[in-house]
Amino acid sequence: MKTAVIVCLHGDEKYGLEVTKELPHISFFIGNPRALKENKRFIDSDLNRSFPGNPNGNYEEKRAYELVKELKDFDYVIDLHSSSNDCPVFGIITKPNKDKLEFTKKLGLKRLVIMPEFFSFGKALIDYIKCGISLEVGPHERKENVDEVKKIIENKNKNEDIEIFEVIEIVKKEQENIIIKNFEEIKKGQVIAEGKGKQVAEFDFIPVLVNEKAYEGILCLACKKLYKLSKPNSDMKKEFKVTPYEVKGKIDYNKLAREFGIKQMPKLPPMFNENVLFRRGVVFAHRDFERILDALKNKKKVVLMTGLMPSGKFHLGHMLLAQQFIFYQKLGVKLYIAVADLEAYNTRQVSLEEARKVAIDQYLLNYIALGLKPENCDFYFQSERSQDAKKSNAYYRLASNFSRYATFNEFKAVYGKISPGKMDSSLLQASDMYHAQLPEFENIVPVFIPVGTDQDPHIRIARDMASRFKGYKFIPISATYHIFLPALKGEGKMSSSDPTSYIAMTDSPQEVTEKIKKYAFSGGQATTQEHRKKGGNPDVDVSYQYLKMFFEPDDRKLKKIHNDYKSGKLLTSELKEILIEKINSFLKHHQQEREKARKQIEKFISH
Ligand SMILES: [Zn+2]
Repeated sequence: MKTAVIVCLHGDEKYGLEVTKELPHISFFIGNPRALKENKRFIDSDLNRSFPGNPNGNYEEKRAYELVKELKDFDYVIDLHSSSNDCPVFGIITKPNKDKLEFTKKLGLKRLVIMPEFFSFGKALIDYIKCGISLEVGPHERKENVDEVKKIIENKNKNEDIEIFEVIEIVKKEQENIIIKNFEEIKKGQVIAEGKGKQVAEFDFIPVLVNEKAYEGILCLACKKLYKLSKPNSDMKKEFKVTPYEVKGKIDYNKLAREFGIKQMPKLPPMFNENVLFRRGVVFAHRDFERILDALKNKKKVVLMTGLMPSGKFHLGHMLLAQQFIFYQKLGVKLYIAVADLEAYNTRQVSLEEARKVAIDQYLLNYIALGLKPENCDFYFQSERSQDAKKSNAYYRLASNFSRYATFNEFKAVYGKISPGKMDSSLLQASDMYHAQLPEFENIVPVFIPVGTDQDPHIRIARDMASRFKGYKFIPISATYHIFLPALKGEGKMSSSDPTSYIAMTDSPQEVTEKIKKYAFSGGQATTQEHRKKGGNPDVDVSYQYLKMFFEPDDRKLKKIHNDYKSGKLLTSELKEILIEKINSFLKHHQQEREKARKQIEKFISH
């Protein structure tokens, strides 16, 4: 592995010359010798905007051409810089990949900034190196620069976590006095510079290179924090995994809430307490839900947005969500229910006809049977938003416009593997979440989404895009988070792709009995004798959890089951019998309602 270090690519960043004297065993290259001699940033043009160079061009273009040749055989290149502003040490890369992140980690850097093409136009030195990183070490004349760089080059800095930022926009300077600091988070609406007037932030961002002299007219580069690159076996990853595509292991909800930056539910008005999902903490966390509670209290309009993925069978896990939005509909909240048929088509190989059929047979019928009413409910398909062209145009236009406010790396950070289909789905989903606020629909209105925690990345990326949106001031979308209904076998959540993980709304009494007896994870002991002596653990027992979340609304009866099971008085087989009976009597009634519901379908999808 060969590493080269470039110093004085800008001739006025002279500390680099000192570094070369201190580390004789390193391969150094002087970037711009003539500018260094004349103590200037450059002679004809900025060298770091002159790559890959031109043998017949101006001084810097010729020099760039030579440098590319000289550096051809090096695997790693560190390009040293300093600044006129007081940014702390950070690395800069373009086109991130695993090698560059690993290299950053090896150098022990705490902060890494990803530069987009719109800033350096793909003409920086590091664009022409296999694995190149630029280092911003601090102000030009700072004494510590040399020592600090020495430590970095010799890999003496130890650091486990790297904070990664990506430049999303260049903020132009409109007022003289800049009052923000590098890497200190700025909120939308905050004053960032003053003079004859005030300049306020148009969106949330983290500033770097604030008031850098070399960038004339630029106030700073606005970044978004992407994610932390931490050691691969940090607690979170070892114990459980929650992404929009995967829920695994035993989930620590407090840890999850901390990781995602969501809050415990606030104190709720009395009407919420009548619903077991709120009373028993199944809905346990939120983002900006106070705004929704305020609007409800003041009898202002509120929209609840939800979506369904039309694949597989409708099961108890889906009911957990349906019960929430039906509860809100009764409180007077307007519902927007999106059938994600385009997403199913683009990412799950489902035809639009199939998606439509599943959405109606599996989802809509069950929603109606559970009490969904056609009034104050906008049930739509992504592939066919509205018969009203103005509305339809507004919805698809918004999805398209959102693409301007997200970066590829953001998608990668949120989704891991990203494909054009997933990206398109994400943009459309953001429009699902925000289009209610367009003038063609409800106009500016508070909107919220009840979701499982695994859906939070979708909400974060939509909120980020909407916050950067120019020309229209969206209210950030609020959300509530419910715990997952555990899969029958106890680990992870119910999944449509594994029939032994769920109870479907169309299961027969025999199927329910068999599934519970055979698969429902038990918190009991191995033998009856042992169980009587030691008792069971209701907190991990799936049958008890189902009773708690749905089937035993009476708190006193539930408490008795809890205590009897814990003391060993109630056996696992007896607990399972209680649940089987409850589910079967619920499903018997539900399946009758489901048949009646067929007559109502038209009322939901005729608009
Ligand atoms: Zn420089």
